Amino acid sequence: MENVRAMPKISEPDFYERMVARHSGDSIVVTGPDGLTEWVNDAFIRMSGYEMDELIGVKPGVLLQGPETDPATVRAISEALHDRRPIRTEILNYDKSRRSYWLEILITPIFDEDGRHTHFMSIERDITERKNLEAASNAVLTREKHREAERVLVGQISEWLYSAKSLDELLKVVQRGMETLIPEAEGALYIYASSRDTLDEVATWGDADVPNRVKPDQCWALRRGRAYSFGTRPIEFTCEHIPTEDYPYFCLPIVAHGETIGLLHIKFTSLDMTADRRAKIETFIHQRWQLALLCAEQISLAVANVQLRQELIDQSVRDPLTGLWNRRWLVDTMYKVQNRARQSGLPYSLISLDVDRFKQFNDHYGHDAGDTVLRETAKVIEDIAGARGHVCRIGGEEFVVLCPDIDHDPACLLADEVRANLATREVTYAGDRLPAITVSCGVATYPDDGATVVDLMRVADLALYAAKGSGRDCVLSCREIPPPKRGKAS
Ligand code: GH3
Ligand code: MG
Ligand code: MG
Repeated sequence: MENVRAMPKISEPDFYERMVARHSGDSIVVTGPDGLTEWVNDAFIRMSGYEMDELIGVKPGVLLQGPETDPATVRAISEALHDRRPIRTEILNYDKSRRSYWLEILITPIFDEDGRHTHFMSIERDITERKNLEAASNAVLTREKHREAERVLVGQISEWLYSAKSLDELLKVVQRGMETLIPEAEGALYIYASSRDTLDEVATWGDADVPNRVKPDQCWALRRGRAYSFGTRPIEFTCEHIPTEDYPYFCLPIVAHGETIGLLHIKFTSLDMTADRRAKIETFIHQRWQLALLCAEQISLAVANVQLRQELIDQSVRDPLTGLWNRRWLVDTMYKVQNRARQSGLPYSLISLDVDRFKQFNDHYGHDAGDTVLRETAKVIEDIAGARGHVCRIGGEEFVVLCPDIDHDPACLLADEVRANLATREVTYAGDRLPAITVSCGVATYPDDGATVVDLMRVADLALYAAKGSGRDCVLSCREIPPPKRGKAS
């Protein structure tokens, strides 16, 4: 009995072959040596959607390959068939309804006892799910690599932004940085004008067709005080500074020291926004939004940094009362002007001005009134001579105008224009009309009146003192000083 139970039940011949052919999960195709289908199993019929009679006598590839089937794989298969070699590969096929699916396929040539090639047998397995997973994880990997590259680039650009010494330098970095980081977009950076009623375009990149000026109330980002993204939501409105509304864009406020000082505008005018591309574009815009926020933050910090640096420089070379250049700046600049004059052979002139009897303003009307006189004097000198020379306040009530490329006579005329204008000006302080402001001026010109910076300053001062001596409210050329006096000083 036991022996009988242990004996396997052997079925009739071909039983197992038929069972395998019918129930195999893998698809099987048998073709003749010419590649025409002779037989397929049930799994193949289920997978391909074709009936047996549609498949017999046809090359499987003719029915099953489609537009996205890789031609290199097709070539490799036909070479292997031609050489009667087995081949294992992966290929994209299409079923009868033209739905695509991925296969792992093993094609083996079959030979009879005499070694004659009689058939090919192809065993195929659906690997669509695995392929989809692979594609998804590759996409994640590619995106991550892309992000990493962006992070590195943002880091490099930030370093450049922080090394910028001036706003001009900073703008160049912004321009190049934005072009590199978001090459699909154009854009512009706006900075508030000092009046604060408009923002002026200070840098553009890409083929940006943008207005030169934006009013704060034309922009949702500026009005709402936070970054604004347009183009992906069902209900949204364009800013007034945008000419057309058929492309996505970002407006991002630039904030330095807690105050909005500008606007970063980034626009995507060349994206294909047709309905079938829309979902992809929305994902893309979302990624760019994150990057744009990072850029706005970095630019904000860098602008604040440059402004701080500029303020420190200004503090060291500007006179806080009048906003004019100070003595330190004058001396530095005179050396540069002197060098240029030596090379070009052109003259340059120095006008020394001193307010007459200034002490009396302080004594009669108070120190604040004195300050008003100084500011008024500075303004008049700047208005009249500012376009032709550098106006400096070098001490209490003493001013200098450094005039590159200007010869002696025009410099004397310029000085007299300042003097005459000041003398006729009405200045009031706390409702009181102040006495007329008069100045005495001395003029000297390189190279005839002094060959060095120090000489020229001294000679101009001598002329100024001489002007004081000759009754004040006048301009004196150093060339009018009596020779012995001038000679003694130089
Ligand atoms: P002169 O016509 O000879 O030049 O007489 P002056 O009174 O202008 O010259 P003086 O040198 O006697 O007086 C200059 C005064 O300027 C003395 C000083 O107190 C005052 N002063 C210097 N700096 C300032 C400032 O920043 N503000 C004010 N209000 N006064 C200043
Ligand atoms: Mg004086
Ligand atoms: Mg003085």
